[in-house]
Formats: sequence, structure tokens, C-alpha cells
Amino acid sequence: MTEVEGIVLKVQDYKENDALAWLLTETEILTVRIRGYQKTTSKLRNCAQCFSHVRWQIHSKVQGFSLLIHGTCIDFFAFQNNLLRQSIAFVLRDIFLKIDGHSSYLNLFLSILHAVSDTDQEFYFRIVWLLKQILINEGIQPYTDGCILCHRTDRLQVLSKTQGGFLCSNCNTDKKTDKKEELIKIYSIFHAELENFELCRDRFVFSLQDVLYWCEWFEYYQQVHLKSLDFVKQIVKLESSA
Ligand SMILES: [Zn+2]
Repeated sequence: MTEVEGIVLKVQDYKENDALAWLLTETEILTVRIRGYQKTTSKLRNCAQCFSHVRWQIHSKVQGFSLLIHGTCIDFFAFQNNLLRQSIAFVLRDIFLKIDGHSSYLNLFLSILHAVSDTDQEFYFRIVWLLKQILINEGIQPYTDGCILCHRTDRLQVLSKTQGGFLCSNCNTDKKTDKKEELIKIYSIFHAELENFELCRDRFVFSLQDVLYWCEWFEYYQQVHLKSLDFVKQIVKLESSA
């Protein structure tokens, strides 16, 4: 029997009475079978809710899925009816499920769930920090050391998603430009080490727009479509028109 700790990312009915659960641990995503989960009397239901922080005893099998034997719920994040923030958590969940390496994400994701009733700045900053980590690890981060086309380091004007990095005034054929502060923010975030975490948070403004931007960047360079991201955008549209 093995003990694992992590966040439940997804639970899905499996066969007649069981479920499969995806658990984000410190090193990977485990897929675990939960016998009898669909029965309302199942004692294992409480420790297998989406976005709960759990400790599980599992029985690993040579063939087929590991089995959940016993579990404890360490923390449960209820999102306090904040549909927008909950939907963003689903986007992050879908991103996790689309990438292969998962080391170092558990604590970052936990800190986001803990910040769910915090200020926008705190909540969105933590998500941007996680996203930049994912983009770097996946090798799809923006090029920010100069103009991505001609490599000059001055007169940088805009971050281009389609080009994959900064563009200078010569190479930027669009009319669109970014504010200098925005370029400094992007440069800093992607060059920051863990010890610069607080410095970045206190120095720059982070909003939902940043989160949406980097999720779209992920979609574009991983060539995937995140339905959960469409849902977030829909909520934003509805909220702004209300
Ligand atoms: Zn250039």
C-alpha cells in the first residue's frame, strides 16, 4: 500500500459502480479507481471531491488502475459561490491534464486554491505565476530578451502572440503597441526566480486579463482547445453586460 497526497483534479464514473479519479501529486498525475463510488453510501466519496486536498492510501496494481483503499480530506475548497474563480480552476485543471510533466505544480495550485477568497491581485498573480512556470517547462514561453525577429534589444514595442515574443518598432507591422510597463511586467515575470515572487506581486498589477492571455497563449502553442476557457470568457461577457 502506498500513501499519496495531492489535489483531486477530476472524478468520472467508471463501469457500473466505480469512478476514476485524477490526483495531482508532487510528481505526477495519478489515475486511481474508486470501487463503489457511485453508491451514495460509499465512504470514499468524501475524500474524492473535485479540488479537495487529500491524502490517499492506494493499492498499486501491476495491471490496470491503482485502487483507492482509504482517504482523508485535508482541505476542501468551496469557492464561496464564486463561479468565475471556480471556472478558472477548471481551466487550470484542463491544462494540467494536457501536459506530461507535473512536478512543482502541486504547491502552486494549492496556493491558488487557498487564495480563492483573496483579492483579485493576489489570486490572479498566483495563477499567472503558475502559468508562466508551465509555459517555461513546456518550452513555449515568450521570447523576451529582445525582438524575436531581428534580436535588437531596444525600441521593443509589443508582445506578439503569433510571433511568439517581443517585436521592435521596425518588425512590428501592426499598429498595436503595448505600454512599456506591460513589457517590463512580462519580462520580469518570465525572468523571475522564486525569490522574486513577492517583488513581482507587489511591483505589478495582475488581473483576469493576464490570466486569459496566458491561457490563450498555452492554447495557441500547444494547439489545443480549452472548452473551460470558453466558459470563463462567456461568464466574463455576461458579467460585463449585466
Ligand atoms: Zn525587430
